[in-house]
Parts: sequence; structure tokens; C-alpha cells
Amino acid sequence: MYKVNFKIILSFLLILFSNFIFSQKKLTVVLDAGHGGSDHGANRSYADIGRIAEKDVTLAITLKVGAMLEKNKDFKVIYTRKIDEYPSLSDRTNLANRSKADLFVSIHCNSSKRPTAYGTETYVQGPDQNDTNLEVAKRENDVIFLDEKDKQTFGSYDAGSPESLIALKLQQSKYLESSLLLGGLVEDNFVNKDKRSSRGVFQKNLHVLRMNAMPSVLIETGFINHPEESHYLASEKGQDEISESIYQAIIDYKKAIDRKSGSPVIVKKPEPDRLAEVALKNDFRILLLSSPTKYNDGDPALKGLNYILPLKENGLYKYYYGVTNLGSVRDINIKTAKDAGFRNAYAVGFMPNQKLSTGYYTIEVYVGEKLNGNSFVLQTLKDAERNKEDGVFYYTYGKVYSLEDAVKLQKDLEAKGIKNSVIQKVFK
Ligand SMILES: [Zn+2]
Repeated sequence: MYKVNFKIILSFLLILFSNFIFSQKKLTVVLDAGHGGSDHGANRSYADIGRIAEKDVTLAITLKVGAMLEKNKDFKVIYTRKIDEYPSLSDRTNLANRSKADLFVSIHCNSSKRPTAYGTETYVQGPDQNDTNLEVAKRENDVIFLDEKDKQTFGSYDAGSPESLIALKLQQSKYLESSLLLGGLVEDNFVNKDKRSSRGVFQKNLHVLRMNAMPSVLIETGFINHPEESHYLASEKGQDEISESIYQAIIDYKKAIDRKSGSPVIVKKPEPDRLAEVALKNDFRILLLSSPTKYNDGDPALKGLNYILPLKENGLYKYYYGVTNLGSVRDINIKTAKDAGFRNAYAVGFMPNQKLSTGYYTIEVYVGEKLNGNSFVLQTLKDAERNKEDGVFYYTYGKVYSLEDAVKLQKDLEAKGIKNSVIQKVFK
């Protein structure tokens, strides 16, 4: 009797406790006040307010953001510095990685040779640094946390397995998407709440962004060498407004992330419909854009999205993002594409393993000047076909009848060193 009761009570407590954990899941935010100590950052002297140094402004704003976040039980705050000292850039990123932070926010002030430059900017990881970042992510593999959806897809993390590498890459593109989300919220607040001028959100190759295994932004809060803006940056009012805007952006960011991952909702109210989702008959890819221009992986035109399949039809390159046969994932993919800036993105159905009844697929392996017989492409693919259109030479290879076979053929070619090829649908 006692045992049974105990079991019931225990499981009741466990349910309560797990609800408690999930509803209390804190977001760990690393706040990084740029520069410090002997590194003053941008600085300038003015007759009325004296010398203003970036390291002091960034620290003041950081401490204000931190004080607000600390009052909120949903957040855990870690500072890279709270006083006038200089942690190296690696100290800062190591701290963030080791503490398994969820978000890294670096705060800076700008300066320019042009005294007329003013306004705010936010930077996120550059388009060309995925490889370094992937190495960091692998090295910091105890930081890797797969959310529920990825866990279902990839199982548990095992460094070195191909599935885990795919999971890592997926996670990376999520970092970038999340960083872009926060960057947009910060800049929106500067414009809408503080009536300031935003220069936008940009991708840039910066150490503190590249070496972090988490979503990261670097905020340039204004120009130290601009006469008016520097006074705003140095003032109590300016620092209050800037920190309030950054704080609000972080709050809204957490709300958006929680909505997306859905973890607190699922724990409290399981959604059997979603768990038992039935696969659709078709695969869905998200059409991002159609263009006569060929963009390779990582091109800024692709706005940082990975998992893109270019498909050439009738002389146009169509760029498709993601592939899934689950309606819920398809909808998330559409949202991801729209959030990245492809406002007109929509889902296109592909019947799996469908053989073309007319025409075929081939692989476009090279576009440009006429290749000579000693070129790598022609040495590797002796029977590549050549076509000339408007003075441009197009080389294609192979003939298959389903998209899946074309993807397989493309992978084989990549293994042989033929990179950036495009699957082409030929109507004949
Ligand atoms: Zn700086």
C-alpha cells in the first residue's frame, strides 16, 4: 500500500518537476562589452564633454542590459567583463562556448574616417565562414544540443558520424537564422523606439562571431566620431535607450525561439496530432528564386541558407531550399526562407522517384569559355557534352530519368572533384 502510494506520488512529483524545468528553461546570454583596459577602441575628444572612449560606452550599455536581464527569471547572464579590463577575443569566445551559452551579444561603437557617417549596424556571422565555424562546432562538441525535432531526425549526437555532421550543419544554419532574427529585432527597436538611423544587419567575418558555437551578434551602437551621435552615446539618456532597445530585442527573440521550438508547450500540453503526423505523398522543396544567374553555395544572393538545390530548366536556375514530406516541416521551411528575405518563397511538390516520361536530367558541370582537352573537367569526364549558346559554352554530363538519380550522379561527380555543378532538366 505504502509502495503504491509512493510510486504515484513520485511520478506525480516527476511530472510537476519536469513541467517546472521546462517552463523555467533559462536562456543563457553572454554579454560582451567590446574592448576594455589598454584597448580603448574608438575614441575622440570634444570641447564640451571631454574624451569619450568606446570601451567606457560599451561597458555602461552592457551593464544596463545585464541589470535588466538579471531581473528576469527567464535569463541567465554571463559577462565577458564587468570592469575596465581587457579579455582577449579568444577568452571571450571560450567563455561563451564553455558556458554553453544560448546567445552571444557583443556591444561596440563605430568610427569612420568620414565624420558624417552615423547610425547603427548589427553584424552576424559572415557567409564565407561556415567551414571555420563547423570546425569550432565539432571541437566544442559537448556544446552541441539538438532540439527535439533534430533528435527525432538524427538520434543522439555522435561526433564523427555522418548523421551528426549533417545535424551540425543544420544547427549552423539555425545559428545564422537566429542571429539574423535578433539582429533584425535590435535594429528595428533602434529605428522604431529610439528614432535612430539604422544602416542595417550585415554578415561579416569577425572573430567573436566566427568562433562561437551559438547564435551571435555584434552591435555597433553608433559613431564615436560623429559630433551629435557621440554625445548621444555618452549621455545617460542615450545609454538608457540603447540598452532598453537591446534588452527588448532579446526578450522578443526568446519569445520567438520558444514559439519555434515549442518545448514548453509540448511538455505541458502534448499535441498528439503533431507527434503522429502522417507523411505526405509528395516531397516539398521551397522555391526561393529563379534567375538566369548561377549562384554557388555561400553566395550572398542565397542569404546564408544552406541545403539549396539549384535546378536548371529552360535556361533559368531555380533555387530550392530544404526537402521534406512532412507538412509541419514544410511550413517551417517556408517561414525560414521568408525570414531570410525570400518574401515570395513558396513550396513546390515533387513526386518521389518519378521517372520523366519525356526528356531527362543531366548535370551541368561547367559554364564559361571553351575548355581545352587538358582541363580538369574534360580529363575527368571524357564524354561530357558541349553546347554553345550566345557565345557561352555549356558542358553537361550524364542522362538519368529521376531527380533522385540526378542527385546521386551529382554527388558522384562531386566526389571526383567536380564542384558547383547544377542538375538540369532537359525537355526533349
Ligand atoms: Zn569596437
